[in-house]
Amino acid sequence: MHFELLPQKEWLSPPTPAFRPLGPWWPVEVLSIELHEGDKLRIHRQYMMRRESLYINGEWAPATGDGVIEVINPANEEIIGSVPVGSQADVDAAVRAARAAFPAWSESGIEERIRILNELSAAIKDNTEELAQTITAEVGTPIGYSRMAMVGTPRVVTRSYAKMLESFEWEQEVRNSLIVKEPIGVCAFITPWNFPLHQIIGKVAPALAAGCTMILKPSKEAPLNAFLLADIIDQIGLPKGVFNLISGHGSEVGEYMSSHADVDMVSFTGSTGAGVRVSQAAAPTVKRVTLELGGKSANVALDDADPQLVGKMAIGACYQNSGQTCSALTRLIIPESMNDEVCEVIASRIARYTAGDPLEDSTRCGPMVSARQQTSVSGFIQAGIDEGAKLIAGGMGMPDDLETGFFVKPTVFANVTPDMTIWQEEIFGPVLVIATYESEAEALALANDSIYGLSGGVWSADGERAMAFARGMRTGQVSINGGPFNISAPFGGYKMSGNGRELGQHGMEEFLEIKSIQRPVE
Ligand code: NAD
Repeated sequence: MHFELLPQKEWLSPPTPAFRPLGPWWPVEVLSIELHEGDKLRIHRQYMMRRESLYINGEWAPATGDGVIEVINPANEEIIGSVPVGSQADVDAAVRAARAAFPAWSESGIEERIRILNELSAAIKDNTEELAQTITAEVGTPIGYSRMAMVGTPRVVTRSYAKMLESFEWEQEVRNSLIVKEPIGVCAFITPWNFPLHQIIGKVAPALAAGCTMILKPSKEAPLNAFLLADIIDQIGLPKGVFNLISGHGSEVGEYMSSHADVDMVSFTGSTGAGVRVSQAAAPTVKRVTLELGGKSANVALDDADPQLVGKMAIGACYQNSGQTCSALTRLIIPESMNDEVCEVIASRIARYTAGDPLEDSTRCGPMVSARQQTSVSGFIQAGIDEGAKLIAGGMGMPDDLETGFFVKPTVFANVTPDMTIWQEEIFGPVLVIATYESEAEALALANDSIYGLSGGVWSADGERAMAFARGMRTGQVSINGGPFNISAPFGGYKMSGNGRELGQHGMEEFLEIKSIQRPVE
């Protein structure tokens, strides 16, 4: 494999029509050409995206922080772009803009908000390929999944809020009171890298629908898609100051946003540790804080479930987005009597979960997002081995035939017990752990044996039995027999997986204050 840098004038061909240039930066240069051995020549175009400005008050303005944040493609370890480092002064400017925009936007007509949300959804659709390629380059997500989940879901979520506004009830009569719902005000959004655009839209779309104004700080690992979103928002003509974008360091910009006296609400998605810091920074100003944090979700097979189906479905439920999914079902809990058969199914099917170049359609597992994440996931795999779990697939080191990129092997451990690190800790990589139980009560105790409570799964031939078990799980979502993700159902955590809900009506209500107006009783 050979990489070569070409200057812009030596493009081999212009961008395809599907790649609609959004900003003045597009494209800056072709970064790499990949020459495969033999007679097969394939060209990978990667566009360097160097963004130097922040989006504040409807304009691109130079950042005033020091240095830049470089973005690395985790599949080949190449730098693919950079974003500026915002400062506290930049946050102040963005908050001022959002505050100034709030009175008009909070009183904007519902028809206008519906139009904006529909235009945003349509623009995300028009730019699907560019957004998906960018997210695959930043995160390493296999390209098909990027198109479908990373871009398709935000498009549909945005549209769902336009639809919801058509019938949303803003007022309610309760005896002599009129209960009115009003937008909470200026919101700060802090988002992670793993489903970057989905997590941004899960805040931006309901906040726009509610009539709030906002400042977004995307993650350092995957900020470029947020800049594309800002380009889109600029093009559709959202009023100045309603949406503002500041890139920068979480410990500086993120904490400052959280503590800002003129921010009414902070909505955070990320690790539990950073969520705690956000809560602490926000506490003195008593602003509303919603947190979408980590998970270690259980996938439970009851004794009447089909072991073949359980084994087959457990792989996808754990490994989607290369295991870097907060709601991944990473703990498989099965009857002792099912252990051999389920482990056999998983061990035989895991080979189909091929790791490799995320731009190849056949790739199912991309790299970890960063070298740090690769080291962290590898550390958990080593801990599983050291603590005596039975390795039935994967293990330490890079997958076969891969030398570059932040990859780990898709890994499965059986005979895992609750005292083990790999049972308790969120690994955030393609590592499935399997434990067994004797009684259903033990299965429920194992499922709930976690500081987290974000998601879960139950498998049973009897729907009512599965429903009863699902009700017993201390977690924000449960899928029965593979029931699919629903973008209109509330998403969020029990316990240390967070507080507040995103998506659907519950997600929008997080952005509303409630006022009771009492009238004289006649
Ligand atoms: P992270 O906590 O490192 O970063 C998330 C965001 O917080 C980033 O924008 C980061 O810059 C910022 N940040 C970091 N420290 C901060 C601080 N002290 N104050 C304010 N902001 C700060 O998380 P990550 O590595 O980007 O994402 C992975 C984590 O996110 C996992 O734990 C995963 O489970 C969780 N997650 C949860 C959900 C959910 O909906 N529950 C969704 C996706 C990811």
